[in-house]
Formats: sequence, C-alpha cells, structure tokens
Amino acid sequence: MPEPEFITHLAVSLRPRPNLVKKVARMRVLLLEDDPMIGKGLSKALAAEGMPVDWVRDGADAAAALADGAHAIVLLDLGLPNADGLTLLKSARQSGFNAPVLIITARDTLDDRVSGLDLGADDYLVKPFELPELLARMRAVLRRHHGRAVSRVVSGETELDIETHELSHGDVVQVLPAREYALMLALMERPGRILSRAQIEERIYGWGEEVESNAIDVLIHSIRRKFGKDVIINVRGAGWISPKSRP
Ligand code: CA
Repeated sequence: MPEPEFITHLAVSLRPRPNLVKKVARMRVLLLEDDPMIGKGLSKALAAEGMPVDWVRDGADAAAALADGAHAIVLLDLGLPNADGLTLLKSARQSGFNAPVLIITARDTLDDRVSGLDLGADDYLVKPFELPELLARMRAVLRRHHGRAVSRVVSGETELDIETHELSHGDVVQVLPAREYALMLALMERPGRILSRAQIEERIYGWGEEVESNAIDVLIHSIRRKFGKDVIINVRGAGWISPKSRP
C-alpha cells in the first residue's frame, strides 16, 4: 500500500542540500526522480544491494547534485519538475560531468532515445521495468565505464565479485551482506591506501542517514571474524587498508 505523500516529503526534507556534500563516493547512486513510489522503491532496493541512494526529486536540486560529482552512477528520469532531463544531462556533460548516466523514463519514442544517447546517456530503460534488469544495466554501464572486462575487484589475496557480492580471502569464500560489501569495495578500490572512518562512512551511507559512532567497527569486526584478521589492516588513529600484498 502506498504511504501518504507527506511521509515521503518529510524523509526527503531531512536530507541536507546536495551541494553541501563532500566529494568522495564512487558506489553511491544519484537518483533523479519525482515519482514518490518509484523513488522510494528504488532507494530501498538499491540500498539493499549495497548501493546507498541519494534521491533528488526536483530539477533545480538535480543540477546541484550533478555539479557535486559525488556519485558512481546517475539514474535520470527525463520528466522532472522545474527541469527537462535531457537539458540537465546536456549541460552536465558540457561542464565535464563524467559518471555514467542511465535514463529511466516513461517516454519511449525513438526521438527521445536517440537524443538521450546523443546527449551523453550511457543507456536507456523504459518504465515500467523490473529491478533485475535495472541492476544488470547498471553493472554493465559501470563495467564499461571502469573498463573492467570481468566483474571482480582484486586487492592482494582478496577478491570481490561485484555481481554476486562474493568475497574470497585465503580459503574462505562467502557472500557479504550489503553494508559489508560496500565497505570492502570502498577499501579494495584503493588497495594499500588508508581510508579514514569518515571516508568509509561517506562511501557506504547515503545523505542524512543516521550512522552509529561504532557502525564501521561493527562491520569490520564481522568481516574479520569470517575472513581472518589480515583481510583488513587497522592503522591506529588513521583508518583501514585492504592490503595490496600479504602482510
Ligand atoms: Ca517524472
């Protein structure tokens, strides 16, 4: 049953303005969509897949969020209040916006598809669509964007499959829950480099999400319990590392 509109409005108004958010994240998703049902549904579904969603419903805010450049991928509804999606896309690309953009829209005329792709969209999905198809297309555009032929991230002895969320380290192979997956991906995309608590939090939580002060420690503890202590190295006072080679 749909929730009353005011609840969705309230949830959105608690989030800080997009242009106040620092640039760090790469697996965060920017969802530009004014339909409350779709916005809410996608935010929930993608977060469950380990991709926190920043959801923007208005064209004016959308431009600011795009200019912020903090996201790994953008899902763009073409019909937004106060802005035309194609115009937004065009001006974002012209000002150097580089992340992949997947258009999700009810418009399915040939003209719109062609202009969307011409203006710099990476793919095009017509509503209504099924979640598995959206996820598959997101993975495909992200792979193309990062030039990955295979869907695995490797750091030293550790391998993470970005399609199945399966982590292997030594003899242990296990599928990670969403947050643990997002945390490992954040560390493994920068092998041998320290990520601070704040950097990890920015990578794995969406705007305005409540984060317990020990949330990252709890996730790391759980990952190390399953895969062994050396899967993540703690650098006292600085942060954590996914080791590039055997420590
Ligand atoms: Ca719309």
